[in-house]
Amino acid sequence: MKLLEEKILKDGIVLSGTVLKVDKFLNHQIDVKLICELAKEWKRLFEGENITKILTIEASGIGIACITALEFDVPVVYAKKIKSSNIGDDLLSAKVVSFTHGNTYNVIASKDFITKDDRVLIIDDFLANGSALRALIKLCEAGGATVVGAGIAIEKAYQKGGDAIRNKGYRVEALARISKMNSDGTIEFC
Ligand code: 5GP
Repeated sequence: MKLLEEKILKDGIVLSGTVLKVDKFLNHQIDVKLICELAKEWKRLFEGENITKILTIEASGIGIACITALEFDVPVVYAKKIKSSNIGDDLLSAKVVSFTHGNTYNVIASKDFITKDDRVLIIDDFLANGSALRALIKLCEAGGATVVGAGIAIEKAYQKGGDAIRNKGYRVEALARISKMNSDGTIEFC
């Protein structure tokens, strides 16, 4: 999506060749008008899929997911991050390896909110190695829900998480796909 690529080129900052800082518009300060355009694009791409729920992961996915949910007129569920693995029976849980912090944590969601009647669109800000997205897919499938697909704002395609998940048959629609981040701070798109 041209608009998002232009915003990344204008305001994104490459940190250490692997992390892209987008806190000027996506995950700290939020450009709401831009997110509305992303949401409209996901609505166009997933039109007719009878989505009943948007699922994301706290924290930076929540704002994007809520605006997307307005387009689809469905509720948002966000997977909560917890440190302990000692959790109750009426919860769905999956493990995530954090790309930005390097640690491992569990995400949980209530079985009340992800059910066999749900057709879920997963929304997140970034896709890198795919751990967060795989965990969200696992929560859906453990709850018996159908994963319609994933809408990702920025995919770092050179990190291969997206390709591995697509190869398993899931639909992943990333609106900006980065093929390379260079040490001089320049960014290339697929
Ligand atoms: P993955 O699990 O696919 O390796 O990483 C996805 C998660 O890590 C996203 O939810 C996002 O919060 C974070 N993330 C991955 N890469 C980046 C990045 O380059 N910049 C920022 N700001 N977050 C990232």
